[in-house]
Amino acid sequence: MKRMTGAEVRQSFLDFFASRGHTIVPSAPLVPVGDPTLLLTNAGMNQFKSYFLGLEEPRHARVADAQKCMRVSGHLNDLEEVGRSAFHHTFFEMLGNWSFGDYYKREAIRWAWELLTGTWAMEKDRLWSTVFQDDRGDLGTDEEALGYWQTETDILRDHVLLSGRKDNFWSMGPTGPCGPCSEIHYDRGIEYCDKQAAPSHTCQVNGDCRRFVEIWNLVFIQYNRDAAGELEPLPARHVDTGMGFDRVTALSQGAETNYETDLFQPILLRTQQMLGHSAEQVRQNLVAYRVIADHSRAITFLVGDGVIPGNEGRNYVLRMILRRAARFGRKLGLAGSFLGDLAQVVIEIFGAHYTDLRRRREFVLNVIRQEEDRFQRALDVGLALLDTMIADLRAKGEACIPGADAFRLYDTYGFPLDLTRDVAAEQAFSVDEAGFKHALEEQRARARATQQFVIQDTKELEVYVRLGEDLKAQGRLGPDGVENMSRDMVEVETTLLALLRAGVRVTAAREGDEVEAVLAATPFYVESGGQVSDTGKLAHFVGEEEEPRWEIEVLEMRQPVPGLAVHVGRVTLGRPHVDQPVTAMVDVDRRMDIARNHSATHLLHSELRYILGEHVQQAGSLVAPERLRFDFSHGSMLTQDEIDAVERSVNDAVLANYPLATEEMGYQEAVAGGATALFGEKYGDHVRVVKIGWEDEPFSQELCGGTHVMQTGDIGFFRILSETSVGSGVRRIEAATGRPAQRLVQKRLGVLDAAAVHLGSAADDVERAVLRLMGELHAKDKEIGELQRKLARVEFEGLLGKVRDVSGVPVLVAKVETASAETLREMTDWLRERLGSAVVVLGAVIGDKPSFVAAVTADLVERGLKAGSLVQEVARAVGGGGGGKPTLAQAGGRDASRLEQALALVPGLVQEVLSR
Ligand SMILES: [Zn+2]
Ligand SMILES: [Zn+2]
Repeated sequence: MKRMTGAEVRQSFLDFFASRGHTIVPSAPLVPVGDPTLLLTNAGMNQFKSYFLGLEEPRHARVADAQKCMRVSGHLNDLEEVGRSAFHHTFFEMLGNWSFGDYYKREAIRWAWELLTGTWAMEKDRLWSTVFQDDRGDLGTDEEALGYWQTETDILRDHVLLSGRKDNFWSMGPTGPCGPCSEIHYDRGIEYCDKQAAPSHTCQVNGDCRRFVEIWNLVFIQYNRDAAGELEPLPARHVDTGMGFDRVTALSQGAETNYETDLFQPILLRTQQMLGHSAEQVRQNLVAYRVIADHSRAITFLVGDGVIPGNEGRNYVLRMILRRAARFGRKLGLAGSFLGDLAQVVIEIFGAHYTDLRRRREFVLNVIRQEEDRFQRALDVGLALLDTMIADLRAKGEACIPGADAFRLYDTYGFPLDLTRDVAAEQAFSVDEAGFKHALEEQRARARATQQFVIQDTKELEVYVRLGEDLKAQGRLGPDGVENMSRDMVEVETTLLALLRAGVRVTAAREGDEVEAVLAATPFYVESGGQVSDTGKLAHFVGEEEEPRWEIEVLEMRQPVPGLAVHVGRVTLGRPHVDQPVTAMVDVDRRMDIARNHSATHLLHSELRYILGEHVQQAGSLVAPERLRFDFSHGSMLTQDEIDAVERSVNDAVLANYPLATEEMGYQEAVAGGATALFGEKYGDHVRVVKIGWEDEPFSQELCGGTHVMQTGDIGFFRILSETSVGSGVRRIEAATGRPAQRLVQKRLGVLDAAAVHLGSAADDVERAVLRLMGELHAKDKEIGELQRKLARVEFEGLLGKVRDVSGVPVLVAKVETASAETLREMTDWLRERLGSAVVVLGAVIGDKPSFVAAVTADLVERGLKAGSLVQEVARAVGGGGGGKPTLAQAGGRDASRLEQALALVPGLVQEVLSR
């Protein structure tokens, strides 16, 4: 086979199919868009699912792409294979060519053969193919495919094998599109068989050894499986192929495993450099090296697609993979963070094709480094905690760490079980691993229960799928579904096509009913790209009548399946009936509020990049009527100066009254022209770009499908409400525009005016008046303090007369009135000074609580009198405790009523010590 770099393999695949009439589409993001049933994109076909289901019309009949995929189910065990097996990866790419009702088996097979043996010059005698033959007998043999392998290719006759349902029949799920497939395998030679010694091993295709590698699967979708399991032939037949990109690259480079290709080698080399390992040391630690390489690719691509480490769903998957890589690095001896450096290498390998990675480089590196640092800190905290845990257990005579504790370390501090096990072993402790697993299972069950999928029980979806199909079949809905006119209109005259009540289709509804309404066209925006849905009214007018016959209040919009916009609301008047004309009216004021916030979000994004730097990337946004929320990557908290500068320059852009323009263009063209593509958006090859600024020099260009103002002046006024952290190098700004911003300012100024009235100053002087007031208060506090001291001094003079003699020692015991804790201590100083040699115990009620100070001069300490023990005894009598040095000690108690009683104990206590 021809020797190629990974990039050449990918490009030649795409070029080959482009020259055969295919449109090359970009990879969908790893975060599936509009498919809540899927955690991460895990196959090339994900982004075309709705074409196969007939929910959406394909834009092109022939498509080819390289698709980013991730396969991790979220279970730790699935990761264990990574690094140990040569071909098991978390992140990988699939190359695919697709026909949506266009060409079929003949071309798919011929082209596959042409690419492999022609363009790539694979040795024909090394290639094998498999064709479906039903082992259950129902469907027979795929004679069509079998025939084409013979007429369209020159594959060796005996290299075409027949195979059953397990390997050669593909289906999307228990129901839905399915069909036979034809796999292509590559024979690497008998020397690659790792099971020659196994007596039961037959060395053949699908024989489960390392000799035969499946490189390509051609799926021919021709049936639809219904709920009863019956296969219905599909009117339109499709081709769906998937090629293992990493594997083919490995074959092309004569690499033993995927890790020896240029898709992994630079990462492994960089790791080796950081560690200063010899080739032999690398071999000894091969699994760790490979885990780190695999995981670096996965985390770079995940963050590149906007996933941020967290505790749920795909965010958790990222955190888990990142921490696993960090831990393997630590084991190898990499101190501190290193994954950011490896991410740079990954971006170098893949950035030329996946240009998003280059553009988001700063963001990717920041997020990875911060999470890694956080993890290292958590590990340190966890280690300290584990030490305490072990010490406590040892004190109790135990030698096993309970599973619940091990799990708490794992769950709260990301402290992996094997690390707990290692540390425990060093201290001759064991870990209750069964208990740990039990706790882990419980947590998983909880996680499953809280997975937030909006509707997406497929059964529930079926109602909408059928509804859409019906309406299209009756010609009442076009192939693209409900016409959405929300970008240009706020009111549309149309027809009520269907009504649903409690998920069931009905022809009419009554006042008070909660309904879902489908119209032929709608001006209502359906939540997307962070912008919330419109609300408003659907009304049925007759003739010139002013009052509607019926009315539905629209509270929410949703799109359960592509092309089917559904108005969710309540009948507030009359009896709506399907097929009646309807006027759909968006709440215009609310729409304008939303549009202001949306346009302001674009301005904010652009000004943040201008003021803080190009590393600022949008990490999420919410555009609602009352406020906007914008999450972006930035390493530190914004200073007040930065916040002010951002707010000022957004308002400058508002005042400049720049025009907004939208333009439809090709995705590549848009991105090349400098438009910003956002995370979490699926962009077709055709996109809409919103530009702000003068025509030749827009300063903001974003791919965006939302609704906007006409010119920036419409925003009115922009006000930042808060700036906070949402973790891992991501900041959040909340802001308001237009009416809410105005209301806010009004309210704040009102508060200021009221304060001015109370202060008896002008509003402009409020700050000065408050400062003056604070100054006066401070002076008063000082004065009060001085007066207290004076009073204490007077009281002190009176106390001198109360000194008694206990066995020749001067003892003063008294309750004082005017004391704070501080003057109490001071008084004992004065007494010691004046008396020279004495025992002094003073009590006072401070803030409802009894309080004591005891002082013993040094000469008496030598005779065994200790302030600490004295005060302790005294305090015990009032239900308290305390202590201190032999010369000075303090105590407090609870019961103030027994203060005098407690003090009365002192002479006896002194006497007792002296008589010993
Ligand atoms: Zn074998
Ligand atoms: Zn936008």
